[in-house]
Amino acid sequence: MRRLALAAAAVTISALACGGRAAPVRAPPASLGAVDYAIAFDDRAGDVTGVARLPPGSPTAVSIDDPLLPYVADVAVTEPADAGPVRRVADRFDVPPVCAARGCTLRYRVRLREACRQIGQVDTASVESPDVLEAPPSSWLLVPEGAAGATRVRFAVTTPPGWSFATGVYGAAAGWEIALADIYTSPYSAFGRLRTSEIEVGGARLHLAIGGATPKRGDGVVARWVTDAARAVTAYFGRFPVPEALVLVVVDSGDDVMMGKSLSGGGASVLVHVGDDVTPEDLARDWVMTHEMVHTGFPAQPRQRDWIEEGLATYVEPFARLRIGQLGAEEVWRSFTWGMPQGLPEAGDRGLDNTHTWGRTYWGGALFLLVADVEIRKRTQGKASLETALRAILAAGGNNAVRWELERALDVGDAATGTGVLRELHRAWGASPVAYDVAGLFRELGVRRVGRAVTFDDAAPLAAMRRSMEGK
Ligand SMILES: [Zn+2]
Repeated sequence: MRRLALAAAAVTISALACGGRAAPVRAPPASLGAVDYAIAFDDRAGDVTGVARLPPGSPTAVSIDDPLLPYVADVAVTEPADAGPVRRVADRFDVPPVCAARGCTLRYRVRLREACRQIGQVDTASVESPDVLEAPPSSWLLVPEGAAGATRVRFAVTTPPGWSFATGVYGAAAGWEIALADIYTSPYSAFGRLRTSEIEVGGARLHLAIGGATPKRGDGVVARWVTDAARAVTAYFGRFPVPEALVLVVVDSGDDVMMGKSLSGGGASVLVHVGDDVTPEDLARDWVMTHEMVHTGFPAQPRQRDWIEEGLATYVEPFARLRIGQLGAEEVWRSFTWGMPQGLPEAGDRGLDNTHTWGRTYWGGALFLLVADVEIRKRTQGKASLETALRAILAAGGNNAVRWELERALDVGDAATGTGVLRELHRAWGASPVAYDVAGLFRELGVRRVGRAVTFDDAAPLAAMRRSMEGK
C-alpha cells in the first residue's frame, strides 16, 4: 500500500541533478538559494495559476513533471515586461536570457482539474472525489531545470472561499518549503472542499484533511481513528516519526477502509479512502492507517528496497496496535504465523533486493525484521531489540522525509544495538535466497497455532523473549 513512483522519480531527480537531459546546464549546477511561488487555485476553471520569482543565476529553462506538460499554458515573463517570449522546447520551457542575468517573474497556468481527470494517477494527479483534486507540487510547480538539488522551493497557496489547500510538505514561515531534489517525490497535496483540523500527537502535528462525503457517524470518528493510529506508532517508536504530516482522508460510500498509500520526500503524507458508513468498531479493527503511518518511520528507499519499507510496516503495525490495546497478543501471532511463511523464498528467488513479489516484499521484509529482532535480543541478552535500532535511525534523522542508502540506516541501527545483526542479515538475505525454519522459530518462541487458534507455551526456550516483544 504505497506509492509506485519512487523508482521512476529517483531517476528523474538524478537526471535533473546531473543535467542528464538535454538542458542547457553549466556544471556544476549552483544552488539558487530559494525560488518563491505564489500559487492560486480557481475552482470554477479548475486551474492553478503560478507566479514564480526566479532569482539571478537561474537556469535558462523551467520544467514540470512530464505527464503535466500538456496541461501547462500561458507561460510568460511578466517582469521585466520587455523580457521576450518563453518558448516550449521538447519537455522544457526556455526562458529569456534576462532571467539568468537579472532574475525575472514568471507566470503560468496549469489546467489542474483537466490533468487530474485525464491522468488519474494518485502519485501524479487525480480526482479523489468530485471536490478533491490531488496533485503533489511536482504537478503544479514549474521549477528551474538543472538547478542544484539543494535549491529551496518555497510556495504560498490561496484558494477561493469554501476551498482549502492541504499538503504533506513541511511548513515554513509563509507557506511551505521543500528542496528541489525532493520535488519529484513530494508528498500528497490536495486542493479541495476539505474539512481541516490539527491533531497533536507523539510530538508531531498531524494536518487532518477530510474530503468527500460526511461520515454518517461524523468526522469525529475519523479524527479518533487517525489519533489512535498515531498513538500506536508513537508507542512503538517513542515518538511520531516525523514532525508533521498530512493525513488526507477521502470519504466515499461504503462501510470499509478501501485503500491507503503514503508519499514522502521533504515532508510526509498518508492518503486513505474510507466508507461513509464505517463504525468506530470497524475503524478500531483497521490496520491500514497504522501501516501507512509506520512508513513515516524509515528513510525512503528506491523501489529495489521496497521490501524493507513494506516489511517494516507489516512487522511493526501489529506490535504498535498491541501497545495501545487495539490488538491482543493472539491476534499478532495469528497474523505472523499466517504471513511469515509467505515471506520465504520460492523457486527462482534472487534474494530480497532482487525479488519483487508480494510475498517477498511484505512478508519477506517482515520475516527479515522478525529474525533480526530475535537475533538482536539474543546477542544482547535482551538489552536491545529491533526497536532500539529503529529509534536510533529516527534519532539520526532517518525518517521517510529523507532518502538514505539502506546500508547507512542498517549501520546506524547496528551501532545502537552494539551488534552487526542488520548488516549481516542483509548480506545473507539481500542478494540470495536463504531458507529459514519459520516453524522452528515459532516453536522456540512458544507460539502454537492450530487452525485459527493460537496458544502460548511459556515453557518454550524463547517464551520470555516473546513476552518482552509483546511489551510484557
Ligand atoms: Zn505499505
